[in-house]
Amino acid sequence: MSNIYQIAIDGPSGSGKSTLAKGVSAKLGIMYLDTGAMYRTCGLAAIKAGIDPKNPEQVKELLDKTSVEVKFSEGQQHMILNGEDVTGFIRTGEVSMAASSVSAHPFVREAMVQMQRAIAADQSFVLDGRDIASKVLPDCKYKFFLTASSEKRAERRLKELEERGDKSQTYEDVLKDIIQRDKQDSERAASPLIKVADAIEINTDEIGIEETLETLLSYIKE
Ligand code: C5P
Repeated sequence: MSNIYQIAIDGPSGSGKSTLAKGVSAKLGIMYLDTGAMYRTCGLAAIKAGIDPKNPEQVKELLDKTSVEVKFSEGQQHMILNGEDVTGFIRTGEVSMAASSVSAHPFVREAMVQMQRAIAADQSFVLDGRDIASKVLPDCKYKFFLTASSEKRAERRLKELEERGDKSQTYEDVLKDIIQRDKQDSERAASPLIKVADAIEINTDEIGIEETLETLLSYIKE
């Protein structure tokens, strides 16, 4: 029997997914795929081309002539756009909003989901995103759904931006973007953000990341 397994961590922006996924990956010695980075790279492509990320025709035409690749180097994920490593350029507020808009187009999702399934096919992976348990890997072994209040999530996102030296947004800007992205991500027709029935829901408002990581690992070890 194969001992390859996958862990899905879904939830809205700032709920602690990536920090936890990185922790799970390090503790269990398995790979981590950040699927948001893939949609962010598509969003960046739209910004660079000067097109409207909400316009399906423009996005389709662009993606038909665009190459988006995921590469791993020493376990670290790199996003490659038309041959250029753009990993360091996809975390801005502008890219977050563009990613949320392009990710609503079904043809974008289909292309990304196909890549995600291929990447996670022959090694154990923890994946974080919005639709890992509902669409990408519905049969995966472990499914977690993280939640937290918009205010808490905005605080975390702001801290993350500041740690990266990005001081372009205020708390109010980040909160507004989070609320708008939540709306776009959960109201879109194609794979909206939802908790599947068999996912374990964890609210990270009050408990710290360390404690949440322990909770997650305790379910996995059971
Ligand atoms: O997780 P992150 O904030 O980096 O994701 C950026 C955007 O990509 C999200 O707002 C969401 O619209 C989209 N996304 C998605 N499905 C995923 C991961 C991210 O639609 N699995």
